[in-house]
Amino acid sequence: MNAIGSEELGALIRAMAQRVAAERDALNRLDAALGDGDHGTSISRAFAAAVEDIEALQEPSLSAIWLTTAKALMNRMGGASGAIFGAFFIKGVASLRDVDRVSNHLMAGALAAGLGSVKARGRAAVGDKTMVDALAPAVAAFEAADDFSAAWAAAATAARKGAESTRDLVARQGRAKFLGERAIGQQDPGATTVALMFEAANDWWKENQA
Ligand code: ADP
Ligand code: MG
Repeated sequence: MNAIGSEELGALIRAMAQRVAAERDALNRLDAALGDGDHGTSISRAFAAAVEDIEALQEPSLSAIWLTTAKALMNRMGGASGAIFGAFFIKGVASLRDVDRVSNHLMAGALAAGLGSVKARGRAAVGDKTMVDALAPAVAAFEAADDFSAAWAAAATAARKGAESTRDLVARQGRAKFLGERAIGQQDPGATTVALMFEAANDWWKENQA
């Protein structure tokens, strides 16, 4: 399948929500080492709220689903990271407006817009030990692929590799910044969440669409 409608987009968000919920405790442990230990709890709560709000939509268009997800992340996660995760989805809303089915190319545009907004909001670049280390390579891989199957697969692999790369880094943004060299050896929780999101999307795609 090379274009997805709102049914599939809602299912992709649901798959992401299930994956972060399943990894909640592991994400909390990563955040306990680098921050305040709440990341798994807050991201899984926010994604659960997104799923609930999407199910309650009267007209679940593609842009409404993306906007609802953005709002849930912004309002239910709280703090700086909620605003940053929300920024990722909010920016893609315009690309999805008035579109019934989204191609991988259009989706790539929405994801790239989201990445731009995350960078603008959090001022993190690749190498700063944040979610950007997973998101930037994932979006680049998604953009370079020819169809959805290849795009989700390449993005998932790139996001996981990016998340793992954060282990060797000192943080230049977020709470982990205060740890200095002590942050080395610990994987960034936000980058790990991004890897889980793309892996969940890829797995959903392989099971349902490929
Ligand atoms: P908080 O730090 O408010 O407790 P979370 O624990 O939910 O928020 O999320 C922490 C994650 O947020 C980090 O692992 C990192 O990936 C991401 N993050 C923090 N600051 C920034 C930033 N300036 N830019 C991008 N991502 C960031
Ligand atoms: Mg935290």
